[in-house]
Amino acid sequence: MNQVDYLRISLIDRCNFRCEYCMPEGASLDYILKQQLLTDEELLTLIQEVFIPVGFTRFRLTGGEPLLRPGVVELVGAIASLPETQDLSMTTNGFLLAGMAQDLYNAGLRRINISLDSLEPETFDKIIGNRSRSRWQQVWDGIQTAHRVGFDPLKLNVVVIPDVNEEEVLDLAALTLSLEWHVRFIEFMPIGNAHMFGDRGWVSSEELRQRIRDRWGLTSAQVCGNGPADVFQIPGAKGTLGFISQMSECFCDRCNRMRLSADGWLRPCLLNEIGQLDLKTALRAGVDSAELRKQVRQLLAAKPEINYKGRDSGTTGAYTRTMSQIGG
Ligand code: SAM
Ligand code: SF4
Repeated sequence: MNQVDYLRISLIDRCNFRCEYCMPEGASLDYILKQQLLTDEELLTLIQEVFIPVGFTRFRLTGGEPLLRPGVVELVGAIASLPETQDLSMTTNGFLLAGMAQDLYNAGLRRINISLDSLEPETFDKIIGNRSRSRWQQVWDGIQTAHRVGFDPLKLNVVVIPDVNEEEVLDLAALTLSLEWHVRFIEFMPIGNAHMFGDRGWVSSEELRQRIRDRWGLTSAQVCGNGPADVFQIPGAKGTLGFISQMSECFCDRCNRMRLSADGWLRPCLLNEIGQLDLKTALRAGVDSAELRKQVRQLLAAKPEINYKGRDSGTTGAYTRTMSQIGG
């Protein structure tokens, strides 16, 4: 079991997109009320007095769409400036990035993952549920701006959806030939949306790798960090290709993370709901940091067992929350 030192923090559960695999249009999502969101002060208290003392040093800001959180640049600055923070990164849909990338960088953010499921505006808009003016160009501008500003590594996340964008895998992989970007293909997960896709709900990473191998060849690359992606490289390419295969492989033994939702629930495992801690309610009830640290340590100790529970019992598909609610 890896040391669990990586916390994914959801800053907000709302989003300006409606990706069909995450927050499909028309789905009734119970948004967190503003007064139930952890305030900046509460979040920083939890990070400094609870998470850092129990061993978390790496933080990823996510959502929902994290750039929608008011004051996100200042929050980034506050977390980045903590001496114990070894790594701070963000996952964003990139729509607001062009106007914010420089400020985020100046505040101390250096690593960014941007979701880009398609290079074709029409397909992209279909996936993100957009019915008005295309949003693809603005996201692409956000990616280019992040590149210019100097974010490194710059990672693009692609959820591969059968019959929707799977034919673009070679085009997306080709971006790494001339750019030092990391393109990561994610197997679609039936989280809170299992009803949406038919028999072929996901395309396996190995199938994608074979297509890329047939075209250019593929070598295993150095894995930086110990995240969930298996990293490969097209020979001679500047960037890398990552494959996140949570459906076709079980990487629970590599799991080094917990998730904090925007309303303060600490979740030890993405795939099941066992053992969650309601840190916000505890904090607001005046429970002291020493007690919260004790509870988090207990959860850390139970994590290896929790990790496998949903998978072993086959209940993972029954997860009722979407990624945007958990903090994907
Ligand atoms: N809004 C931001 C974004 O889209 O990058 C951050 C939050 S989003 C929930 C984080 C990541 O989860 C994105 O890369 C998204 O593509 C991925 N994701 C969401 N739902 C998913 C699903 N059902 N299966 C696999 N990945 C999913
Ligand atoms: Fe929004 Fe990200 Fe979910 Fe898409 S994947 S709906 S951008 S939170």
